[in-house]
Amino acid sequence: MKIGILSRNPSLYSTRRLREAALARGHEVRVIDALRCYMNINARTPSIHYKGEDLLGYDAIIPRIGASITFYGCAVLRQFEMMGVYPLNESVAVTRSRDKLRSQQLLARKGIDLPITGFANKPSDIPDLIKMVGKPPLVLKLLEGTQGIGVVLAETQKAAESVLQAFMGIRTNIMVQEFIEEAGGADIRCFVIGERVIAAMKRQAPEGEFRSNLHRGGSASLVRITPQERQIAVKAARTLGLNVAGVDLLRSDRGPLVMEVNSSPGLEGVEKATEKDVAGAIIRFIETNAKQNRTRTRGKG
Ligand code: ADP
Repeated sequence: MKIGILSRNPSLYSTRRLREAALARGHEVRVIDALRCYMNINARTPSIHYKGEDLLGYDAIIPRIGASITFYGCAVLRQFEMMGVYPLNESVAVTRSRDKLRSQQLLARKGIDLPITGFANKPSDIPDLIKMVGKPPLVLKLLEGTQGIGVVLAETQKAAESVLQAFMGIRTNIMVQEFIEEAGGADIRCFVIGERVIAAMKRQAPEGEFRSNLHRGGSASLVRITPQERQIAVKAARTLGLNVAGVDLLRSDRGPLVMEVNSSPGLEGVEKATEKDVAGAIIRFIETNAKQNRTRTRGKG
């Protein structure tokens, strides 16, 4: 097969591993920088040019679109879909997953348990919004933050109010969430491929920090997850329409809660913690599932 990896940096661990795994299984593979793609959008012969060359004949495309280029990256992915190329994750699903509020609403609609979350527009509504969500401490999250940046723990009502006011004042979307204290600064990353969790790790925040992101100094270890956690992770990925996803769960007193579903989950932490060949599993999934014009939401934006 001819496989394209949409990634800005061929030397990133995940990009490198996917490329290696594809080559090892006898495929032709190329890393493509989405920002260097330009598109001819028309009904009969949609095309993509890359540094002057026509990108033709791809069977599958693996999107590894960074949060900062979601808009353009998804447009390029959509163009591949228009050309009939099989996307590992569809552009619509990637776009959904990048908006925390939209994702939460979709998950809640399918009966998936989440931390209680509130969202408002007017600063004058903040006191009642906080009352709706519950007592401090509260977690405040920027809607489009990643890697733990833009996630704040407010210990008191006053702190929560002033952070919400500050961000609303500069027209930045921010949501407020109950703090799951009993999770003890840990979360569970479930790596979903198709209908299975193929690897799971526990990420533990360093002393004095509640965010367990590896980018924030968290440490990863192998963990056994329960059948219920497995089922919830697969359902969350399916609800957002993702074939491959990193589903983050918090272990709360009322059971597992889905905190976030990531459409370009990193491979480094999970491969090192679990010693599993996650990149190889992704390529095998593509081999089984890639067919021309298999984009389920084609034409639905
Ligand atoms: P990002 O997308 O920036 O990683 P997350 O929503 O995943 O943001 O939050 C970052 C980290 O903060 C999580 O990995 C988790 O450890 C911690 N965290 C987030 N929300 C909560 C919460 N409601 N209760 C307890 N810990 C939380």
